[in-house]
Amino acid sequence: MTTVAAYAAPAAKAPLERTTIERRAVGEFDVLIDIKFAGICHSDIHQAREGWGKATFPMVPGHEIAGVVSEVGPGVTKYAVGDRVGVGCMVDSCRECDNCRAGLQQYCAEGPVWTYNAVGKDGEPTYGGYSEKIVVDENYVVRIPDGLSLDVAAPLLCAGITTYSPLKHFGVGPGKKVAVVGLGGLGHMGVKIAHAMGAEVTVLSQSLRKKDDGLRLGADHYRATSDPQTFEDLRGTFDVVLNTVSAPLDFAAYLSLLRTEGAMVNVGLPEEPVRIELSAIFGNRRVLTSSNIGGIPETQEMLDFCAEHGLGAEIELIGADRINEAYERVLNSDVRYRFVIDTATI
Ligand SMILES: [Zn+2]
Ligand SMILES: [Zn+2]
Repeated sequence: MTTVAAYAAPAAKAPLERTTIERRAVGEFDVLIDIKFAGICHSDIHQAREGWGKATFPMVPGHEIAGVVSEVGPGVTKYAVGDRVGVGCMVDSCRECDNCRAGLQQYCAEGPVWTYNAVGKDGEPTYGGYSEKIVVDENYVVRIPDGLSLDVAAPLLCAGITTYSPLKHFGVGPGKKVAVVGLGGLGHMGVKIAHAMGAEVTVLSQSLRKKDDGLRLGADHYRATSDPQTFEDLRGTFDVVLNTVSAPLDFAAYLSLLRTEGAMVNVGLPEEPVRIELSAIFGNRRVLTSSNIGGIPETQEMLDFCAEHGLGAEIELIGADRINEAYERVLNSDVRYRFVIDTATI
């Protein structure tokens, strides 16, 4: 066991504070990672405040982890000391179900072991990336290509894969029209990735406040959803609507923007049930669906894609003493576009 410094929420809704946690000894197939950067994802806040139901405390959030391998177990074959690596939302799964065998560990039949606010196979609570070091089985670690710096790579481990996976799954590429709803941490990566895939990209945002950013990030068009004319003009336009907003929306209005058999994919997870009329999808065999991160092989594919296209996240780097302030700013949509903690400050 190793004692490492971390930032933890001691109880639901309590401010995060500096503490120490124990990391397990490096096992046969484990790597010890010196964490360099950890992104702040909106879901960290949902969980630290029990917005998604009962949670375990103390909680060390963080599932956008970038660092360097500092020790490997004797059975490790994929990584060596000094390798630049990442860890995302999960650190283990059953490895035997159909989904695990297909590389879809995020949909493991037994449920994956989440990076924090979960229980590991050793029966101990898992603690996330707001800490100095983490021990992870090599099969749940991905390689960060040399072309990506670690600070802008960290958010790719959740925001990047969460948007890449559904865009890929629904065939986004040249000739396709994609709408990205919301230009936040997820949305800004959705724009970059859909553009790099060759699609025509429209941002749908409440106002035109971030229009210049959206166009700079790769959007072809930028429309305000507060203007009813937007929905009139864009009716039946898109192959894919990628909704990154976790607040409830008027789903019927957004579904009307899809072409026949187009898909609206929801990657934000509202804290309350949503209600829609099936008539919104009935007429045109439209698809209303959702998507949760991506598997380990696809996460590696996404990182390689991002390196090839020079895509990192747009970040605001902060010291750990500003985590609580950052949470408030995320809730107020006041970040362009991802806070990343410099874990040397923990
Ligand atoms: Zn996340
Ligand atoms: Zn499984």
